[in-house]
Amino acid sequence: MPLPRLSRSWWPIAFLLLGAALVACGGSGLSFDESSGRLKVVSSVSPITSIVENIGCGRIDLIGVIPEGEDSHTYEPPAAVARALSQADLVILNGLFLEEPLLDMAEANKRPDAEIVLLGDQAITQGQWKFDFSFPREQGKPNPHLWPSVRLTMRYAEIVRDALVRKDPANRDYYEANYRAFLQRLQELDRAMAEAAATVPPQNRKLLTYHDSWAYWADDYGFQVIGAIQPSDFSEPSAQEVAQLIDQIRQERVPAIFGSEVFPSRVLNQIARETGARYVTDLADDDLPGKPGDRMHSYIGLMVQNMKAMIPALGGDASAMDRVDPGLVCRDGSHARY
Ligand SMILES: [Zn+2]
Repeated sequence: MPLPRLSRSWWPIAFLLLGAALVACGGSGLSFDESSGRLKVVSSVSPITSIVENIGCGRIDLIGVIPEGEDSHTYEPPAAVARALSQADLVILNGLFLEEPLLDMAEANKRPDAEIVLLGDQAITQGQWKFDFSFPREQGKPNPHLWPSVRLTMRYAEIVRDALVRKDPANRDYYEANYRAFLQRLQELDRAMAEAAATVPPQNRKLLTYHDSWAYWADDYGFQVIGAIQPSDFSEPSAQEVAQLIDQIRQERVPAIFGSEVFPSRVLNQIARETGARYVTDLADDDLPGKPGDRMHSYIGLMVQNMKAMIPALGGDASAMDRVDPGLVCRDGSHARY
């Protein structure tokens, strides 16, 4: 049958319909199938989605709402996210002021019996909050990047397990078994990272990164974060700040500076050129390697990739990371959407 020919006056309507269809597609990734019978969980950044995925695995429906590669610090949730939040039984965020617009939207849209869990707020006390370069004390908001510290991620995993058990006690044994298997993986990861970090010559155990996400990690393995280039409003540094950094890098003989794909920066190239430090582009704190479904697309895969970028650039050997398994701990498949 030949297609009906549209008269000119119909084209605007056809475009409107097409637009509506595209919006509907974009939104469908952000809502739950009400009939699945599984616990519905919303999470925020992808490392947290991966931690929740490992413990809830085949018995929960999980949507990580902050797209990978997007700046989580300035993320404003689109209206479609409100639908997923209104359906969720559990909303698991990092907290520590990382996802404030998303937290506001969750509080405004959640079901009365749904629970919001802020992992960072529970994992450490206010006395353990770190204020530093991009998170100055006078602004009152601590560095929220707890998860690069595997030891703090172990705490996150425990808090996630407890929340899943609270909302879905019938599957307590399943969540507990996955938590134990995941904890064992995290312990292996911690040992491999300690081993790799120990191969870095002591005078090189200094980190200068663009994005300020290694503060808690550095404590675990005896590194010092000597600076972060990104200002606290997540803009580019001023010419004067860049000049100061160049002096500091020369004085401290920093062998490498680290950028990230999420925050491409021209000033890093300039700083590297003027100081002779090596510029490593691929550290990440919330952009998992590969695509969803890939073995490396996980929290553990992220840390393996980070160590492989960081440790050799500082003169160490990251081969211990090769023995770490980044895959899911459960065997029944997951219903997570990133
Ligand atoms: Zn970050």
